[in-house]
Amino acid sequence: MKKVLIVTGGSRGIGHATSVLAAEAGWDVCVNYVSNKTRADETVARIKAVGRRAIAVQADINNEQDVIRLFETCTSELGEITGVVNSAGIVEPYCRVDELKYEEIVTLINVNVVAMMLVTRESIKRMSTKNNGSGGSIVLLSSVAARIGSPGLCVSYAASKGAVDSFAWGAAQEVVGEGVRINAVSPGIIDTEIQPKGRVEKAGPSLPIGRVGQPEEVARAIVWLLSDDASYVAGSNLDVAAGR
Ligand code: NAP
Repeated sequence: MKKVLIVTGGSRGIGHATSVLAAEAGWDVCVNYVSNKTRADETVARIKAVGRRAIAVQADINNEQDVIRLFETCTSELGEITGVVNSAGIVEPYCRVDELKYEEIVTLINVNVVAMMLVTRESIKRMSTKNNGSGGSIVLLSSVAARIGSPGLCVSYAASKGAVDSFAWGAAQEVVGEGVRINAVSPGIIDTEIQPKGRVEKAGPSLPIGRVGQPEEVARAIVWLLSDDASYVAGSNLDVAAGR
C-alpha cells in the first residue's frame, strides 16, 4: 500500500517529530499547521532530506472547510491518504475550574474535540473499504491527563482528552472491519512548546522515571501504530508516560 500521511499540527512538537520519523519509515507527509509557516516549512525540509515527498498545508482544523481542503490538497498532491495522525491540540486555560471563562472552554473543546472528530470523519470517508477506500491507520493524540484529571492545572484539557479516548474506542470498533485501524496515544509530560514556562524543569525529577519525555519518544510509538507491524492493534490507547 502507498504510504501517504497527514499529520495535523505537524509544524511543532510531537507532530513535527512524527512527521520526520514517519518519513524515515517511508511515508510521504502532508504537514498541517495553523499559523507557523516557518516551522512547517522546516519540517517539510527535514522530510525531503530523507528522500520522501512532503507539502505544508495551512488549515485551521477547527474550521470544517479548512479540514476538507486539507484532505483534498493532500490527495491531489501526494495521492491516496493511508495514514492520519491528529496531533494538533491546545491546553490553555491553565486555571482552576471556578476560574474558567466560557469562551476559553469553547475554544478548547472545539480544537481538541470537535476538530479531532472532523479529522477522523474525513479520514474514514476516504480510507474505509465501505467508502471505496483502501484502508489505513489513524492515530489520535490523547493524554494521561484524561485519567489523572489534572486538578489545579487544566481539568478542562483533561476532560477534552477523555472525549478523545471514548471517541477513539468507539470509532475503532465501527471501522476496524473496513480496513481502518484507529488507536490513541496518551503521552505523559513531553518537552514541547505546549508546556507552561518552567514546568518541564520542575516536573522532571518528580516523575517515576526522573525526567520528562522527548517528542521523538512519543513519535516512535505513533509511527509503529501507523505501520503494518501493528496490523492487529485497533482500539488501543497506548500510554507513553513511563509509569506516570
Ligand atoms: P505543540 O508543540 O504546542 O504543537 C501544537 C501543534 O498544533 C502546532 O503544530 C500547531 O500549529 C498545531 N495547532 C494548534 N491549533 C491548531 C489548529 N486549530 N489547527 C491546526 N493546527 C493547530 O504541542 P505538542 O506538545 O506537540 O502536542 C501535540 C499533541 O499531543 C496535542 O494534542 C497535545 O494535547 C498532546 N499531548 C501533549 C503532551 C505534552 O506534554 N507535550 C502530553 C500529552 C498530550 P502552529 O505551529 O501553526 O501553531
